[in-house]
Amino acid sequence: MQKVIAIDGPSGSGKSSVARRLASYFKITYIDTGAMFRAIGLFLDQEGIAFEEGPELKTALSKLKLEYAVDDKKLVVINGHDVSTLIREHRVSGLASVVSQLPSVRSFLLDFQRELGTKIVCVMEGRDIGTVVFPQAFCKFFVTASVEIRARRRYDQLVEMGQSDISMEQLIEDVQKRDELDSNRKLAPLKRAEDAQLVDTSRMNLEEVVESLASIAREKAQAIGLQL
Ligand code: C5P
Repeated sequence: MQKVIAIDGPSGSGKSSVARRLASYFKITYIDTGAMFRAIGLFLDQEGIAFEEGPELKTALSKLKLEYAVDDKKLVVINGHDVSTLIREHRVSGLASVVSQLPSVRSFLLDFQRELGTKIVCVMEGRDIGTVVFPQAFCKFFVTASVEIRARRRYDQLVEMGQSDISMEQLIEDVQKRDELDSNRKLAPLKRAEDAQLVDTSRMNLEEVVESLASIAREKAQAIGLQL
């Protein structure tokens, strides 16, 4: 058994907020794998490296120094640059979705995520944590919500960050496009693991979701003798 609480689900499902809160509830590490795909998308874009398999991408990845700090302020550092704020821009979501289709990028991050998660007890969130990265995780959740609610949450987040130049219609379209890309890609598609608990957050508030997940996680931890 791997000492990981795996939380997967589509964008805007609320899984990041839930994962973060659950980690702080149990005082364990929170790991956001989407941030890593965002950082690589941003980096390749900034360096003008084509988003396709080939020697150029392989060389770039072999030289890439990715750091994931567990304190909230300085989350992702790429080749010495803190990109934690930049990766939250709307355009970077699209870049991340595209690079996440590339086998070399997935394999690079798979090793990185496994190395991070193996040493500690943590909550790791993404799209393929319960299916590919940690298939033996002791506790798995698949968090989802309706497309409209997910677009609305993303809208509120962007407005909060001062990016209000995007309409709800556009966001609904973007959410659908990303779902399509994430669910239909060949490698590690967004999919509920058979043993993952399905959680629909459309009609639940954050407190309710966290409480419900915490009690399930505690039970599962007890069953394997893990003190949470
Ligand atoms: O979770 P977030 O929206 O930040 O993820 C950005 C993109 O990274 C997703 O749309 C998805 O394409 C990709 N991703 C992935 N596998 C993960 C986490 C994120 O493919 N484990």
